[in-house]
Amino acid sequence: MKKIMIIGGDGFCGWPTALHLSQMGNDVTIVDNLSRRSIDEELGANSLTPIQSMETRLTAWKEATGKTIAFEKIDVAVEYDRFEALLDQQKPDTVIHFGEQRAAPYSMKGATEKRFTVDNNIGATHNLLAAVTSLGIDPHIVHLGTMGVYGYDDDGMEIPEGYLKVYIPGDEKQIYQRDILYPTNPGSVYHMTKSMDQLLFQFYAKNDRLRITDLHQGIVWGTQTDETKLDDRLMNRFDYDGDYGTVLNRFLMQSAVGHPLTVHGTGGQTRAFIHIQDTVKCLALAVMNPPERTGKVKILNQMTETHTVRNLAELVAKASGATIANVDNPRNEAAENGLRVSNKTFISLGLKPITLAEGLLEETQQIAQRFADRCRMDMIPCVSTWTDNQAPGVVQLD
Ligand code: NAD
Repeated sequence: MKKIMIIGGDGFCGWPTALHLSQMGNDVTIVDNLSRRSIDEELGANSLTPIQSMETRLTAWKEATGKTIAFEKIDVAVEYDRFEALLDQQKPDTVIHFGEQRAAPYSMKGATEKRFTVDNNIGATHNLLAAVTSLGIDPHIVHLGTMGVYGYDDDGMEIPEGYLKVYIPGDEKQIYQRDILYPTNPGSVYHMTKSMDQLLFQFYAKNDRLRITDLHQGIVWGTQTDETKLDDRLMNRFDYDGDYGTVLNRFLMQSAVGHPLTVHGTGGQTRAFIHIQDTVKCLALAVMNPPERTGKVKILNQMTETHTVRNLAELVAKASGATIANVDNPRNEAAENGLRVSNKTFISLGLKPITLAEGLLEETQQIAQRFADRCRMDMIPCVSTWTDNQAPGVVQLD
């Protein structure tokens, strides 16, 4: 049994991860400032699924399983002293860090949201690293990064896991070799913060010999996991609004309410995906397999399949009979790209992925159709744009 602190454990990925790790017999504490719920209020948005207060969620978990999860409401980016004191008191074996502002469109809305995203995400990550080193404790830190830091090229190269070996020609037929982080190419302020997180981790792994796993995750789809299905009060959130809804969940909801599936331009962008059930399994595998103290970050790609947006829309349209509408792209990105990604570590650790073909129907019927009457149609368009002189579009990807 491990003592595990989960920062951001009220969120879409954090909540089902907390339940899964608790179900496995670990001692779990959630730390969250509930800012994701406040942003819903700010945007006038809601989760398609009815989500309960943290208090009700934890009571329901206790009733369903007899297990206890602790909760501390702390802003990790701002309340440094309270956070450090909690780490000191708990001395966790593992800290999982989900606690960041994660919507690319929200991070591009304006100066306020750009500054908040940078202050919150960099502040939270650095406060964790500074507190751990200042206390001299030794948790394994597991962070959720994103595939989006890699950027999207179209030359067929497989995106590797871990550091990159590069060879640099010198003056006199000499070749120098360096191990470097994959050169990032972020596509939004949010992705930029994830790129900056990587440097913070690289420094603390090298300087303070911290053990850190950075999971470069694809776009998460699906809603429920084995544990969230145990009781309706444990249900996970399902974002469908223009800022936070990820592309597949948005298509599913659009099909359920009879809205055309809104595809950016030609929909030729290829992206990496993973089902939420596989996210929680990957987190458990990462927790159980901490890295050695090598001075380097363990970097893994956490995704299971790639699809073009066009292909996704066609799959959902076929399953539901929805129509497809091609709309202007609010993002500053290539209209078409390929994507090949190595995910060999999780597969070698035994992950057996849920494919889109298997999970799509259940998700459509049990979530999108069941809660279609809670959908606010006015929240569907994405009104955030990447540059100031752009007209608002209507779709976002992750
Ligand atoms: P989410 O917004 O649903 O959850 C994040 C949680 O962190 C929220 O509950 C929020 O209240 C909390 N939080 C934010 N800032 C905090 C702070 N300063 N102090 C304490 N708590 C704070 O997001 P998610 O979809 O669950 O994503 C979790 C992580 O996974 C993020 O870091 C995100 O970048 C990464 N990720 C998500 C996806 C995806 O498709 N959802 C894909 C790739 C990577």
